[in-house]
Amino acid sequence: MIARLRLPRVKQTRHRPTRAFCEADRWSFDPRYTQGRCPICGWAPEGALSAPGWLALANRVDWDIVGLFLLADVLVLVGLIVANATGLLPTGHGNIGMPSSPGVASGARLH
Ligand SMILES: [Zn+2]
Repeated sequence: MIARLRLPRVKQTRHRPTRAFCEADRWSFDPRYTQGRCPICGWAPEGALSAPGWLALANRVDWDIVGLFLLADVLVLVGLIVANATGLLPTGHGNIGMPSSPGVASGARLH
């Protein structure tokens, strides 16, 4: 006996034909990846999806600003690491990367 599983219905957009054919250029293309237009002449087929969901979301994000803030974050992080290694931070742990700190590694070289 086979258990009957109720699978969730797939979205209707999956059943829509994704490829379009430009008669003028005799060119078949996927309008989701050409922003809804023929890549040769710019003809826009009716009802074509302009982009898949993830690409529509990715197109809405301004990646320049995201990269700029990410770069600023990385620079602040590097600055904190360097300030910590040179002992400029008041919180201590300043002599982690300093081999010349007295009494730790070079204690055997005392005279
Ligand atoms: Zn075309």
